[in-house]
Amino acid sequence: MPPLTRAEARARSDRLRVHRVCVDLDVRNPDVFTSTTTIEFADECPGEGTFVDFRPDRLIRAELNGVPIEPGGLIEGRLPITPAVDNVLVLGGESAYENDGEGLHRHVDPADDRAYLYAMSFLDAGPRWFASFDQPDLKAPYVLRVRTPEDWIVLGNGRFTEVRPGEWESAETPPLASYFVTIVAGPYASTFDEHDGVRLGLHARASLAAELSREADDIIEVTRLALDAFHDMFGHRYAFGDYHQVFVPDFNAGAMENPGCVTFREAFLFRGAATRAERAARAGTVVHELAHQWFGDLVTMRWWDDLWLNESFAEYVAHAVCAEHTPYPLWVDFALNRKDWGAIADQGPTTHPIAVNGARDTDEALAQFDGISYAKGAGVLKQLVAAIGEDTFLTGLRDYFSRHEFGNADFNDLLGALERAGASDLKEWSAAWLETAGMDTLTVTTTEDRALVERIPGPGGGGREHAIRVGVYARDGQELERRTGTVPATGSWAVDGLPSAELIVPDAADETWARIRPDRPVEEWPGISKLADPVTRVVLWNSIRDQVRSTELDPALALSTLCDQLPNEPEDIIARALLDWGQNVLAGPYSLPGQRMERLCHLADAALKILTSAEPGTDLQLSAWRALMGCTDDTEALMGWLDGTELPPGRELDAELRWRATTRLVSINGDQALIDKAFDLDRSTAGRVHRARALAALPDPEAKRAAFAHLVRPTDLSAYEVYATAEGFFLPEQSELTESFVERFFREINATADFRSGWALGQVVSRAFPAAANSRSTLVLAEDLLASGELAPGIRRPLAEATDLLRRAVASVEKFGRSED
Ligand SMILES: [Zn+2]
Repeated sequence: MPPLTRAEARARSDRLRVHRVCVDLDVRNPDVFTSTTTIEFADECPGEGTFVDFRPDRLIRAELNGVPIEPGGLIEGRLPITPAVDNVLVLGGESAYENDGEGLHRHVDPADDRAYLYAMSFLDAGPRWFASFDQPDLKAPYVLRVRTPEDWIVLGNGRFTEVRPGEWESAETPPLASYFVTIVAGPYASTFDEHDGVRLGLHARASLAAELSREADDIIEVTRLALDAFHDMFGHRYAFGDYHQVFVPDFNAGAMENPGCVTFREAFLFRGAATRAERAARAGTVVHELAHQWFGDLVTMRWWDDLWLNESFAEYVAHAVCAEHTPYPLWVDFALNRKDWGAIADQGPTTHPIAVNGARDTDEALAQFDGISYAKGAGVLKQLVAAIGEDTFLTGLRDYFSRHEFGNADFNDLLGALERAGASDLKEWSAAWLETAGMDTLTVTTTEDRALVERIPGPGGGGREHAIRVGVYARDGQELERRTGTVPATGSWAVDGLPSAELIVPDAADETWARIRPDRPVEEWPGISKLADPVTRVVLWNSIRDQVRSTELDPALALSTLCDQLPNEPEDIIARALLDWGQNVLAGPYSLPGQRMERLCHLADAALKILTSAEPGTDLQLSAWRALMGCTDDTEALMGWLDGTELPPGRELDAELRWRATTRLVSINGDQALIDKAFDLDRSTAGRVHRARALAALPDPEAKRAAFAHLVRPTDLSAYEVYATAEGFFLPEQSELTESFVERFFREINATADFRSGWALGQVVSRAFPAAANSRSTLVLAEDLLASGELAPGIRRPLAEATDLLRRAVASVEKFGRSED
């Protein structure tokens, strides 16, 4: 199917005005649904050809102004039409439901055999279930009518009413872009609240009703606080009527900001024990989606190349609002998880500017939903707000919403609004930060009582200034001083009159976007865990991670630093993320196969130290236990947890923990009966996904063959089960067993584009990529495939990114990988 290009979209939006769209759906049949769309629109170029987007399995009706259209014209999702001045276009189709989380997705709950639907129209999946001019800047009011089994409820962008049993009709919505039109239908369990005149609904499958009611108070409280904050900040009330938040199965993204009806992945309704950091991350997503009701939904980017107008702003204000208005300050999480994600993307082969990202078509646009559009964009906005002041920033935003509400805007509209509000010189700032890719490095050199902080420009160049704070630390980790200043684009910032110190950290408060190099090598740092500010500790850990990826730091030294420091780390979120990094990176692609068991044992020792010293029932204890489950080779301990005889004090084994321990245990001992037993105890949707991961992890050639077939052939497994299979397959400790599949992966992966599309296609490539087979021969296979010129677009980018990470890992083991044993 050809992606829509920017030029095609512009040609349509120049001439068409869509007045109203009405979608009639019948979802009573469990195998196929029918959909009839009526589009009322005007055309300024009557008599000239254009096209409408629709991708049913079978076109059953096509009429323009009462005249049938030749159905054979529908090719690859585009139906050519020749409109008059005023038009009524009617298109009807029949399709099977989707099972990859896009289009109209149907899920049958294994717990009770009940069926659930939701629609995901983003990014260009709308035409899988209704006809439209599918582009962000042809907005229209929508009315939906849905026929369902009689025990279902229906939710969507407009308020639905059951007009007769099993017949639902929505109120007409404000103007919507086609990519956020949705419905949610099924025997969902619900809970309702109201705040400041907005009706709030939370929904999930009936089998998750207990989890929903347990988590509802927290989610509603965060929603209320954020709604108040946004009303106050933006000067525009929430504009889309009721506000539903629905937790849906098999969802690919974290969430989707459909106006009035946000869909979230179900994992946010924690089935087992959850830490405060996990609740904070959920709060961050809840607030991010609410922010999108303004950034994205009320004012929408004209074309996907201005994706940052949605994502960078939603990400930034979500973090700012969480920190100021909810019980969940998120900046540690941002520094630790989001920025590292963005830093990898910004130093990779597919980096791009934050703004005006150059997406020429919808395929390229989908690929830009990365750490740059989210984390780097938010990090850079943090710098902007610091530079122009929060008042100017908010005044500009209010102006922007006023001028463009229910319409579209672009980069220049936003900069113009900020300049009218009083921000000056944004052109230069924007050229340096928003329109240039790449990351600077900030270094410090010291002489006597003076530190020189310098900027080494990234590959994209750019005259960036960095407004930062420099932190000065004594041997015992005590912060002696924190100095505020600006690192100029050329030259250096001389910080004079400093006390004698053992460590100087540029950007100690994590305020800019740069790679950080303190004044001395890692082995001379005071213990990281002794520093009082968790954000500064994360700045240092991020520097270590970056130095490892850049072949500057021996992974063995990073591992020993981590194992020394983490047992004294008070923040569970930091301990957990770094233990996971140790397992997945230092004991994986950044180690020789012969070093992996020893490194895992080293990590397991550190995790055990934290587990045994942590107070019972704390998040730190839970985080350490989970990390230990991932890396221990102590099968007796794993058995003791599974049979409940040796549980850590104050802990219970919930379904999620049981699967974690089971998966680790069977990856060592190959006992499939343990998987059957775990599944008997948890015949849920999540249980099926965990079972797929555990089966792929079995150290058995036959199990590996069966798992591999699910990755490279059409399969009945859900998309989530395929992802889990990919994650369980190429385990670092099983590299001999999976060696023969490495070459097959590169030979067979491209053909998966014949039967997968959208998110699922790229996700399988990223998750199944044999990163742990970190030899030069694997690198050659990957590079040859990339050079072959035959790659499907949805495969090329994740493959290029994974190959770049492999290239870095191979360089590291070639430089540092002397055998330790
Ligand atoms: Zn978003």
